[in-house]
Amino acid sequence: MPRRLFAPLALALLPACRSISVEQFAAAARNSGVRCVAVEPDMTVVSPYAPGRTAEYVDLFRDSADAIFTAFGVEGTDLSVYLEPVDMPGFRIDESGDHFELEGVQRPAHNGVVGLAGERRGSDGHVIVLYVPKDQAVRTADGREIRGTFRFDQGSTVRHELTHIAANLAGLEGPTWFDEGIAIEISSMRVEGGVLLPGRGDSLSLAAARRIHAEHSLEELLAWQERGDRLHRGDEDVFRAGRPLAHALMLFLLQRVQGDTLLESLRTIHSMSAAELLGLEDDWHRWLG
Ligand SMILES: [Zn+2]
Repeated sequence: MPRRLFAPLALALLPACRSISVEQFAAAARNSGVRCVAVEPDMTVVSPYAPGRTAEYVDLFRDSADAIFTAFGVEGTDLSVYLEPVDMPGFRIDESGDHFELEGVQRPAHNGVVGLAGERRGSDGHVIVLYVPKDQAVRTADGREIRGTFRFDQGSTVRHELTHIAANLAGLEGPTWFDEGIAIEISSMRVEGGVLLPGRGDSLSLAAARRIHAEHSLEELLAWQERGDRLHRGDEDVFRAGRPLAHALMLFLLQRVQGDTLLESLRTIHSMSAAELLGLEDDWHRWLG
């Protein structure tokens, strides 16, 4: 079953009746830290940023969605995007106020999750929640407040979450290794001129898979079940080995299957039984070296 998601602002609006006034919407949005809502023909982006920075995310989502939906042979969807600000710890300024320090800067995340995608509840369409950096403020010794902005290239996370939606629309969903394997592969690609193009080829996740595959069986990977909503609430730990291993299995299978198009290969892989996959376990481990 596809995951169904509520998003933060939607939660704030839930107690309200089915139709709400613009004033009620604005009040709920303001209480949720929303500064801008961008309304596009098939996409709504709810953002904690001013219009200029919000527009950068709108462009990123639109360009990526066009390319990924085309690759999956699906029409678009009515997409709601919630940019959810999270604290970015690790920005400090020293006593004299003339020296700053950055420590442990990481991708913006909530309970280890950088984004979520699913079907929208209550109406047709899909939802993406993307965690984005909250602007920070530090106070200097002489009492001045300095505001700081973190900028992250979030293109790979956007491609990852859009891939989950494209796969859902194409009827190519589940199990978890399949969902994550293809989302990671497409997140490593690039979008140019509206087209999805191969990325770096080898990747950090493949290197990680090479290091750890001997400690894990294919059976364990195939049995992996992850629930985004449980991760979001912190009720479930991330299976850390899962993502690199799922990506490695997907790459291995894509090389073996050699369909005319990516979509054709994915359909073939999606239809393989667990028994068929387990029969390839030794080859897969050998391929990883
Ligand atoms: Zn994912």
